[in-house]
Amino acid sequence: MSTRGSTPPQESRAPGAADLAVGVDVGGTRIKTVLVQRGSVIARDVQPTPEGLASRFGDVVVGCVERLISVAEGEGVADATPSGVGVVVPGLVDERAGVGEWSANLGWRDLDLLGAVRGRVPGRVAVGHDVRAGLLGEHLLGAARGVDDVLFVPLGTGIAVALMTGGRVVRGSSWSGELGHVVVDPSGPRCGCGRTGCLEALTGAGAVGRRWREAGREGDARTVAEAVAAGDAVAQRIWSDAIDVLSGALAPVVASAGTRRVVVGGGMAEAGALLLDPLRTALRLRGPDDALEVVRAELGDWAGAIGAAHLPGTA
Ligand SMILES: [Zn+2]
Repeated sequence: MSTRGSTPPQESRAPGAADLAVGVDVGGTRIKTVLVQRGSVIARDVQPTPEGLASRFGDVVVGCVERLISVAEGEGVADATPSGVGVVVPGLVDERAGVGEWSANLGWRDLDLLGAVRGRVPGRVAVGHDVRAGLLGEHLLGAARGVDDVLFVPLGTGIAVALMTGGRVVRGSSWSGELGHVVVDPSGPRCGCGRTGCLEALTGAGAVGRRWREAGREGDARTVAEAVAAGDAVAQRIWSDAIDVLSGALAPVVASAGTRRVVVGGGMAEAGALLLDPLRTALRLRGPDDALEVVRAELGDWAGAIGAAHLPGTA
């Protein structure tokens, strides 16, 4: 990975009074778009992610923006032309250069995202990372409102996190937030990245489901959560092991950054108190802050698109 110059932190700020901004969240299966005005979402749209996106990224994103504008105008917005468009993607992203360095899901390497879109949509264009944008969205309109020291943890099959300190989203190198691929147990199971014992190989939704099936059961992480609630001892052990490993990985981050609130999103957050209560207890026991808040994300799948609309440079 090449070394790049330091980049300014993202600032959390709403558009100006009359500004309209579009956020585009390009995911592995869906592309979500929102039109935001003065901190409120006034239109939204979802499209399936087409095959071969990498070879026609610009055309697809421009099409999604145009469709959203027509949706908004169809819903009564007199002129939905935005002053800027923020586009966020998963994987490793060089936000300043606007380059998607790598995405396993979307199959690109060093793709010029900014160049593919700039000049083809109204206003300025900014490129960002989906999880960091999700934190920005949760800070502006969701579960991180009013708190400036936040750790955002979307828990799905993969685990990438985003950190806010003093109201600013931390952006280091393009590896920032890739906590899922930190090796926490070198003798642990093999990870999709090729190493063994990564955090997400031990505690992600895929890992929880895999352990369940290794115990001779059927189903996935959702099934395990249901079994935990029903008092199944095997499920409870798998669940508590996963939370133990997760809290062990998050506690040093929380302690280093002075985090006051952990916002948990992603598919596993659907388990609600079943996940949040023991995770809160574990983090308070392991870390210095016995009042640390652990809450569920509020914006669901829309956090990334809402944050994208508020990236610096879109308004
Ligand atoms: Zn890994």
